[in-house]
Amino acid sequence: MAVEYREEPCRSALNRVQGMGFKWSLNPYMGCVHRCTFCYVRAFEKRADRPSDARYGTSIRVKVNVAQVLARELARPGWKRESVAVGAATDPYQPAEGKYRLTRGCIQAFAAARNPFSLITRGPMIVRDIDVLQHAATRAEVDITFSVPTLDADIWRKTEPGTAPPRQRLRALRLLVDAGIDVGVGMAPILPGLSDDPALLAEVVRAARDAGATGVWCNILYLRPGTREHFLDNLARDWPALLPRYEEIYRRGPYPERAESEPLKARVAALRRELDVADRRARPLEPPPAPEQLALAIQ
Ligand code: SF4
Repeated sequence: MAVEYREEPCRSALNRVQGMGFKWSLNPYMGCVHRCTFCYVRAFEKRADRPSDARYGTSIRVKVNVAQVLARELARPGWKRESVAVGAATDPYQPAEGKYRLTRGCIQAFAAARNPFSLITRGPMIVRDIDVLQHAATRAEVDITFSVPTLDADIWRKTEPGTAPPRQRLRALRLLVDAGIDVGVGMAPILPGLSDDPALLAEVVRAARDAGATGVWCNILYLRPGTREHFLDNLARDWPALLPRYEEIYRRGPYPERAESEPLKARVAALRRELDVADRRARPLEPPPAPEQLALAIQ
């Protein structure tokens, strides 16, 4: 698949967010080559009149100056050091990060400003940045989530055409936790009739615990316009027998009724207790690398 990378500087790095669990977000890239069929960003793309179908993820905006802009914004006198969610609308460790190192630069900016942040990814490339994550975590709260909705190879490959295998993510998680960094697993999205199978749920929670995850949470799939058409098209191709069930579950809108989502959350909460998922980081953070070693790309 041919991907176009557009190097476009940004004027602002931090975005004010309403109605989410966080107030500020930051996305070093726009678009994501992982092209998950369920990606909720497709809905934003549709609303912005950009392609949300199979073309999504074939044109990536690279905010080449994002780390410098972020550093300036974090230094503003009125900034209150609120936590920033990194990667809510793109994967900050998609392949382009290997070349551009924008996420790395942003982590360094957060560390320099002692600013807390959370980061969500499916990309094992994050292990490259253990040094700067560790440094940042000694200066402010750092909270990493690896998205691992399932370990089932068939479901993973059909719904996440561009991501690394889930067990590779868990190996990366282990390295981060061993470095003293707080990393949990987000089982999201759980797909009704597929990854909500009790044995599959237990398999993920057990593997997350074994890898050292400090916590596990889950969310069921929701389907806003843009995501809905693409996801259901793919479902019809890969699991046609499930189509009537999905049309029933999502007949009233993007969110399934609580009768569908609550038992799932209760099941994962019970697994978390039964399998004793807990923060087991054994040792305090190692001293961070010397600042000169960090070679601040943001200056
Ligand atoms: S990795 Fe995240 S942002 Fe990228 S396509 Fe998948 S769900 Fe969307």
